[in-house]
Amino acid sequence: MSDLAPDPELTGCPAGAPCPERDSYDIKARELNPGLVVARALPQRQRRLIGPWCFLDRMGPLEVTAEHKLDVAPHPHIGLQTVTWLLEGSIRHRDTLGSDQVITPGQLNLMTAGRGIAHSEEGLTPVGGRLFGVQFWVALPKAMAECEPAFAHHQGLPRHIEGQVTLTLFAGDYASQSSPARYHSPLFGAELKGSGDFELVLEPHFEYGLLLLKGEARLDGETMGKDRLYYLGTGHQETRLELRDAVIICLGGQPLDEDIVMWWNFVGRSTEEIAQARERWQQGGFGAVPGYPGSPIAAPLLEGQLKAGR
Ligand code: MN
Repeated sequence: MSDLAPDPELTGCPAGAPCPERDSYDIKARELNPGLVVARALPQRQRRLIGPWCFLDRMGPLEVTAEHKLDVAPHPHIGLQTVTWLLEGSIRHRDTLGSDQVITPGQLNLMTAGRGIAHSEEGLTPVGGRLFGVQFWVALPKAMAECEPAFAHHQGLPRHIEGQVTLTLFAGDYASQSSPARYHSPLFGAELKGSGDFELVLEPHFEYGLLLLKGEARLDGETMGKDRLYYLGTGHQETRLELRDAVIICLGGQPLDEDIVMWWNFVGRSTEEIAQARERWQQGGFGAVPGYPGSPIAAPLLEGQLKAGR
């Protein structure tokens, strides 16, 4: 996915941001394409990062019609990995490496942008169906920020079942299992689905974010809302979840000890790096996405924001 906002903000994410014991934040939903409501959980003014996770969008649920569908034209990324995770529907991914991959619920698309990649995403859900998913970005650590771009698709991810709740692991380790997906810093990412109680074991060096996508749930006795992101700071050993026909996404990681800058679809270390990536995209320097039937997305303006000192 692309950051579809027409006026993306230049966002500094300083290292060593305060890490409260627990907190929660409102999520603001915006209709970006006709019918497509996207709710941005990260970054927020009070919380820019959770571990290395720097961007978290809930997309849909979208009732697909001839006019209301997902079609994200080619757009670039640098300095990050994108994680696509669906609850309903299907999406076709194509990128400048020549990848062409359909993803359906329970599978993982992991794209490593490194020094630069561009991709498109087209919803394949037929009219009358629904599309519902999340996209996350992971900031690459400085040593890997300019690595070779890569794309991987994973199915048959590790699962941990307790009673009627299934944890599917798309990042990191849980209960002696490891996700096969390759990341570059200590982190965790899982979907919890079902009904019943679940004692989620936490890594005390990690901070965590939890998002309720479907159904009803309680987090350590507190009723979860779907328009809130729940944060747990470092130092927790476990958290108690009660799910009722629910789907919860949990992300975690060691707090990032680097300053990063985010703008549009880029993660960098300076505004100059971001401006250079924007210019490279505008000049066609990321290459073409083979097979996409349309024009790429033009980069929004950056200059005005820099002049305004933001
Ligand atoms: Mn994207």
